[in-house]
Amino acid sequence: MTAKLIKGTEIREEILEEIAAEVKEIKEKKGVVPGLVTILVGANPASISYVTLKIKTADRLGFKEIQDDQPEDISEADLLAIIDKYNKDDSIHGILVQLPLPKHIDDKKILNAIDPDKDVDGFHPVNVGRLMIGGAEVKFAPCTPAGIQEMIVRAGVETSGAEVVVVGRSNIVGKPIANMMVQKGPGANSTVTIVHTRTQDLAAHCKRADILIVAAGVPGLVKPEWIKPGACVIDVGVNRVGEKVSEKTGKKIAILRGDVDFDAAKEIAGSITPVPGGVGPMTITMLMKNTLNSMKYKLGMM
Ligand code: NAP
Repeated sequence: MTAKLIKGTEIREEILEEIAAEVKEIKEKKGVVPGLVTILVGANPASISYVTLKIKTADRLGFKEIQDDQPEDISEADLLAIIDKYNKDDSIHGILVQLPLPKHIDDKKILNAIDPDKDVDGFHPVNVGRLMIGGAEVKFAPCTPAGIQEMIVRAGVETSGAEVVVVGRSNIVGKPIANMMVQKGPGANSTVTIVHTRTQDLAAHCKRADILIVAAGVPGLVKPEWIKPGACVIDVGVNRVGEKVSEKTGKKIAILRGDVDFDAAKEIAGSITPVPGGVGPMTITMLMKNTLNSMKYKLGMM
């Protein structure tokens, strides 16, 4: 059997087109557009490239985009004052502080200072609590888990009553996606198990999964014999395993592998995400969707 590929690159385009159409319609009717500010402290090259991609995507969708670059030595108090300014700015619906922050700044303090109703990353404790309660309480699901759920739904995979096994219990992927899949509602209603490094028989749990979500950060952790025939496999892992020269640009680029042995797994799974081009492109897409939703909440449209 060869699994159906769930391509994040294609689903991203579908969702971005839907967002752009909605932004245009709301702009015409109400004269407002979603406002997103990206605060970048220092010049970490990886952070610069993430932020650049976020800005490009926001621009493409017709958002108001502010890139607020701050020097590496900005004080915590000054950064808190900047966040306060955007909390009070009615044209801004989403505030994003790019992590990591320099060591002299307490990132928890900074993230917790963001107005929960502008916390489009979904990391503020208020939004974590709302996610746990579920249903209409949820404002912003964190972007990577939201992207995972969207991929499962758009791939037409039945979640109601499905055995979902999540490998990994981080606050940004494992715990929130497990919590989302167990909720009462569409795209969820699953029976969920979370496994981690202290789990006794990882393979046995994985073998039960109708939907296997792997976010461990260990290349090739999940072996093909751990996959139930026909299962949906979502590989969140992004692991750099070497370098190669790009055929397009001639520059050195990283060789990326997922947490699943993809070549063998695709012969057993019913559907599977590739790495790269799977979950990766979904994170920024869902950030844009959260920013649009933030504006819609404010306009009383949701
Ligand atoms: P993390 O914070 O390091 O958490 C990894 C989790 O996996 C931990 O709960 C750990 O268990 C568990 N784990 C590690 N090795 C294991 C093993 N051998 N057996 C069972 N469980 C194991 O990682 P993360 O931030 O969730 O990220 C996970 C992966 O997803 C990384 O490769 C990351 O790059 C990728 N990622 C991708 C995106 C995206 O594509 N947009 C976004 C976020 C993350 P313990 O808790 O017991 O240590």
